[in-house]
Amino acid sequence: MACIDKRHLPHYNDLALMDNLHPRKLAPESGIYKCQTCGHETVAFKGHPLPPEHAFKHDDGMPTLWCLVASAQQVHPDL
Ligand SMILES: [Zn+2]
Repeated sequence: MACIDKRHLPHYNDLALMDNLHPRKLAPESGIYKCQTCGHETVAFKGHPLPPEHAFKHDDGMPTLWCLVASAQQVHPDL
């Protein structure tokens, strides 16, 4: 199940594209991203790299994978 609700991104058919995003991958949307391993949240902008791995290690050794939990409402997407 995707981290974000379909109501927030009605123009996407496959919300799985917003999950399991590796560090430094280009963000598909502007908004808040959550680490699927530990729940740490951050902000990223569409077309810019997602944050790198955490400075700390997860206790279980699992990698950082981001998922979009809240998209930014862009009234003027060209700004
Ligand atoms: Zn984490």
